[in-house]
Amino acid sequence: MPSKKQPKLSAKDLEEFKVSLIKARAVLSGDLSQLHEEAFGQNGNVDASESRPGDTSDGYYQEFNLQLLERDEETLQQVLDAIERVNNGTFGQCEGCENMIAKERLRAVPHARFCIDCQRQAERRGGL
Ligand SMILES: [Zn+2]
Repeated sequence: MPSKKQPKLSAKDLEEFKVSLIKARAVLSGDLSQLHEEAFGQNGNVDASESRPGDTSDGYYQEFNLQLLERDEETLQQVLDAIERVNNGTFGQCEGCENMIAKERLRAVPHARFCIDCQRQAERRGGL
């Protein structure tokens, strides 16, 4: 059983976090489709004969967008996971130590998977 470091979230709190998560999901999905369009839309078919060695600015720009895209997909996945946790009643529980994540932290990052202690430990180890 988790120790009683942080109080359990009330139904009202859960509802509040669920709303933020659903908003985050909408924003992230919207951003994603926009990014997809930028990354793949206009220049989706790259003609190999037109790519000149040395002219890397377009390629760099595309790669940069794809990196953004990847990060957003990961965030979106975390948001989706968090919504699922709200639905199955495990929202707010740290995946590392199983203590409740502080409410202030969840307000700042509603899709947080770890409490601040476990997050810091993970950062110190250099991995996230
Ligand atoms: Zn923890």
